Amino acid sequence: MDNNYLTILNDEKNRQNKSIVLIASENYASKSVREAQGSIFTNKYAEGYPGARYYGGCEYVDQIENLAISRAKELFGAEHVNVQPHSGAQANMAVYSALFNSPDLIMSLPLDHGGHLTHGSKVNFSGKFYNFKHYEVDRESEQIDYDKLHELAKIFSPKAILSGFTAYPREIDFERMKYICEDVGSLMIVDMAHISGLVAAKLHNDCVKYADVVTSTTHKTLRGPRGGLILSKKEYAKKIDKSVFPGMQGGPMMHTIAAKAVAFQEALSEDFVEYQKLVLKNAKSLASKLAKSGLRIVTGDTDTHMLLVDVSNFNLTGKLAEERLNESGIIVNRNTIPYDVNPPRICSGIRIGTAAISSRGMDEDAISVISECIIQILRNSSDKNIIKEKILSLASKYPILD
Ligand SMILES: *Cc1c(COP(=O)(O)O)cnc(C)c1O
Repeated sequence: MDNNYLTILNDEKNRQNKSIVLIASENYASKSVREAQGSIFTNKYAEGYPGARYYGGCEYVDQIENLAISRAKELFGAEHVNVQPHSGAQANMAVYSALFNSPDLIMSLPLDHGGHLTHGSKVNFSGKFYNFKHYEVDRESEQIDYDKLHELAKIFSPKAILSGFTAYPREIDFERMKYICEDVGSLMIVDMAHISGLVAAKLHNDCVKYADVVTSTTHKTLRGPRGGLILSKKEYAKKIDKSVFPGMQGGPMMHTIAAKAVAFQEALSEDFVEYQKLVLKNAKSLASKLAKSGLRIVTGDTDTHMLLVDVSNFNLTGKLAEERLNESGIIVNRNTIPYDVNPPRICSGIRIGTAAISSRGMDEDAISVISECIIQILRNSSDKNIIKEKILSLASKYPILD
């Protein structure tokens, strides 16, 4: 056996077990999902699509891909599904390439207001190859101002309006988005990477019935393997499939597609809905506890698995807050807040998500301990070692890896 590998694996296992992960984009895939992703399907080349491959020996990978597709259709009520994108970014890349020519104008929320890198950031392919114009969140409410968005859309007449975000804690009004898109003749594209688990559980209003195309990751709230997904109306099916393969990718990762099939089945269960309810309850509870202790919650609340916390009234930057929390075993990431006065590397906020801790079964009691620890760490008001012990003992009460 490869001892170097085993040592590092074991260290990572310990790290995952001993820390409290509040990174909003992370989760713990089930053992069944991980076993599928580690399965012999990794050995198979299968360029093409079920029934139309460029390799022999594809009879079983055809079955597994069809299973993943039919389960995703059932889960999200989608007309067409492509399960081959290797990641969320690649799903977006394939959709843009399928639907846009480079001068086409696309409207999106910028990175520093909660959008994703692939929504037109200058350092990303999206901002380099495509023509993005941004709408923003309102300075006061820190939420999307749909009236303003509508006005801008009338001015720009974009080819598409993109919604679905990376650091936006409130529910998105997809019906309103559809209304705006129809009024100005734009395509409606939704990137539900963060909220796809909530959408699957019907605990966030649905985007699939409204949008022309929906992209997602499968590893965030959806709790599947690391990967991407595209759902669309039938009329875009051919274009999107051609864009993923042969346009953007070579052979699909059949082991990951197998794991997606397993994850979609899990997401169809009643247990999964209960899990998502816990995710939401924990996020609300954490937001209210942190607010009571004097931290400012961006937008004032959360409707999702995620909260954005402005740490500036504790005289901290996002960077410092992230470092202090991580040192004690609470893992978060710094995040810009809307109209942030600090530069992006420093920023004024932290982003907190409850998807991972809820997968460990943590509930109200754990949330109380976590919020107390966060406050004490950020205030620097208690002995560091005592807090570390507290976090370690909480983590050990909720083991995750079997
Ligand atoms: C996470 C995320 C992505 C990118 O997913 P990767 O799998 O990391 O490429 C794309 N869009 C949004 C909104 C995301 O939150």
